Amino acid sequence: MSDTQPRLHLPSLHLHDSRTRSTVPFVPLAPDNVRVYYCGPTVYDLAHIGNLRAMLTADVLVRLLRHLYPRVTYVRNITDVDDKINARAHANGESIADLTARTIRDFHEDLAAVSILPPDVEPRATHHIGEMQDMIRSLIESGHAYEAEGHVLFAVGTYPSYGALSGRTPDDLLAGARVEVAPYKRDPGDFVLWKPSDDQTPGWDSPWGRGRPGWHIECSAMSQRYLGESFDIHGGGSDLLFPHHENERAQSMCCHPHGRFANHWVHNAMLLVNGEKMSKSLGNFLTVRDVLRDTPAEALRLLLLRAQYRSVLNFTREGLDEARQMLDRFYRALENLDPMQAPVPAPDSVVRVLCDDLNTPRALAEMHALADTAMAGDSSAAAQLKAAGNLLGLLQDTPEAWFRGGAKVDPAQIERLIEERLAARKARDFARADEIRNALAAQGIVLEDGPQGTTWRQA
Ligand SMILES: [Zn+2]
Repeated sequence: MSDTQPRLHLPSLHLHDSRTRSTVPFVPLAPDNVRVYYCGPTVYDLAHIGNLRAMLTADVLVRLLRHLYPRVTYVRNITDVDDKINARAHANGESIADLTARTIRDFHEDLAAVSILPPDVEPRATHHIGEMQDMIRSLIESGHAYEAEGHVLFAVGTYPSYGALSGRTPDDLLAGARVEVAPYKRDPGDFVLWKPSDDQTPGWDSPWGRGRPGWHIECSAMSQRYLGESFDIHGGGSDLLFPHHENERAQSMCCHPHGRFANHWVHNAMLLVNGEKMSKSLGNFLTVRDVLRDTPAEALRLLLLRAQYRSVLNFTREGLDEARQMLDRFYRALENLDPMQAPVPAPDSVVRVLCDDLNTPRALAEMHALADTAMAGDSSAAAQLKAAGNLLGLLQDTPEAWFRGGAKVDPAQIERLIEERLAARKARDFARADEIRNALAAQGIVLEDGPQGTTWRQA
């Protein structure tokens, strides 16, 4: 398409809304600033590929929104106070500050590796305790929360719409999870807004004693702080729908009865590994780093995009190989890009299918069609393929770099060199240790020294 031709009118975005359980036109509350909130990581461990799917769904959604609207504000929080963090720091024998700082750094590195763009605001829970306490105070004053034995609890019975988002009730949770009901709860479904901390546990002074917030109130407070009482889209993995998002919604709607909290709810489906739910006990638990150790990051990104976000995605090694072959083909097609060709906007054919509830598999099919035309020698199709890749966060390399870096590495040889480097360091032969690190870096292999030893990944 040449620049002189008028662009087709941009298609309107349709998104599935979890609350109404239907796919509806997306209508921003204020088109001059589309506001999006996603629940970010609880920072006690490396991101796994299920976490990555949620972060990648958000990335594709935000990239598309930025293509359609002049301004998007994307907020993704960091949960840096949580009992899982306390337990892990204790088990590792390291401070909570060290654990959370390292985990946040690793999380940022992993996401950047797969071209997930940073949010506009990334608030940390521990920096917003005051806002959480304000909300809790207001919920107590309005009769939606009560204090009991150093805890503050949200009274689910005071919010008639409780369960409307997820279609579930507190009883479902109790039945499914065999939760032990604390004796101080008026209703078994009531959930914690604030809980007491002992001297060994992080805590803040409050009208209810020294303590720390419950997880759900964190997101209610941080979304309100940066996006207001009503904003456009709230998203996360389907595992967050209940109770986390149901509880966030109850707190926020009771605090601001005239607001809407999130106008639209987006949830991505789960990810399976070799057809089974990922779990440490099954031995199929994969961190992003595990996968990137011997796979180019774009192949992982493409694999995750091959399923529409609401379909269950089955992760397999064969799928990764196929994704890599698809990229080989796209990069072959890009070899037909005339270096003098000016960049073009993302093709409407691709934007249109993405506007159909983020239909990434169809977008990839459109890219294959463009690759066919480009391989027949059409430079303008190659430029459109590149633009489509930019919109989806793919094809960020040059063909030369892809075919050089995409070459298979030999993990056994890398492990041998890591062993040799360790031995050199023990012998205080730091020159040799550095030499090995530099030689691997030249092959695009990055070493990371951590408490559990040295790991590696492809840059
Ligand atoms: Zn949240």
